[in-house]
Amino acid sequence: MGCPFCYEWLPKPTTIMTVFTGGGALGGNCTECGAFFVFEESGRLGGQATMDLQAMAADGDLDRALTLRPGIDCEIRKKHLNDGERGRNPTSPKVWALKMGPPVPKLKPKPRRVKDSG
Ligand SMILES: [Zn+2]
Repeated sequence: MGCPFCYEWLPKPTTIMTVFTGGGALGGNCTECGAFFVFEESGRLGGQATMDLQAMAADGDLDRALTLRPGIDCEIRKKHLNDGERGRNPTSPKVWALKMGPPVPKLKPKPRRVKDSG
């Protein structure tokens, strides 16, 4: 299982209790880039995985976790555990990862399209 940020091998996950999910979440820290990660086996609970990541990033401070704004204060990425076409269905297990700090701008950003509604 590679890190969604740096693609290095992630360490064996442990149960993290300082999260929103009762009973804890299976996750840890990437030893290479320091990103927090959680495993989400059903593939359907991305929102919950995101919240748990924010709790981990806030050292278990759930109030502070709620103030983190993905895409502004931190960046969240997901990766399918089973790579390849067959693994990419909506219910395949995923790893979610969070890195603190604003998303790193890409080298050659595409011009933004202006949406009519939003
Ligand atoms: Zn990493």
